[in-house]
Amino acid sequence: MSADDGTDSSGSTDSGDSAAHPTHDPHEGLGARLNWLRAGVLGANDGIVSTAGLVVGVAGATDTQSTLLASGIAGLLAGSLSMASGEYVSVSTQRDTEKAALALERKELAESPEAEFEELVGLYRDKGLTETTARRVSQELTAHDALGAHAQTELGINPDDLANPWSAAIASFVAFSVGALLPLLAIVLPPHGWRVPVTVVSVLIALVATGWVSARLGRAAPGRAIARNVVGGALAMGITYLVGTLIGKVD
Ligand SMILES: [Zn+2]
Repeated sequence: MSADDGTDSSGSTDSGDSAAHPTHDPHEGLGARLNWLRAGVLGANDGIVSTAGLVVGVAGATDTQSTLLASGIAGLLAGSLSMASGEYVSVSTQRDTEKAALALERKELAESPEAEFEELVGLYRDKGLTETTARRVSQELTAHDALGAHAQTELGINPDDLANPWSAAIASFVAFSVGALLPLLAIVLPPHGWRVPVTVVSVLIALVATGWVSARLGRAAPGRAIARNVVGGALAMGITYLVGTLIGKVD
């Protein structure tokens, strides 16, 4: 993963956030984009595993196609809506916290600009700049956008780009649904007798893929990530299938 998959950003990203850079980048950083991608893959993985567990469990009890379809669709919608609303709530809370912190910062800047300026100088000194450079940087940033400089250096947030609860909710809805679609189709489409094997095999293959991608995005070695992911999915399907079969025998 290097600079060549970015579009137009400034290339190297591993140097930490360069808050001392006096221009602000209107584009999201590569790191932020990778985080989104990683969240998407994890959301899809969630959709695959939970829906696979659900439909394989129901298939243990019944072979009626309409029942399998109904349970798959219900699982897809319940899971994706629950992920979306959970994400909406958590990102809204985060946003409220950030807004409150920004409001406090704005108030402090208005009431005691001198102290705030010294605070900024101190923060840049702590980052390793010399006194002279720290003052120079603080002067230029304060003249340009004092609140933005404090928000980024002190709070680590970009006031022009706060997390959006709606886009987070929609993204997790879509990611989960895309993942859930695989076991849903795999259980409904094959002929009688093939449903469970086709679903199990296609789900395990998909889990190899999502395990590999998320390990790569997190710069971890893929082997263990894939193994954990596949074992987790296999257990989910094995347990629900067993329970489904037992329940199917009751009536
Ligand atoms: Zn401050």
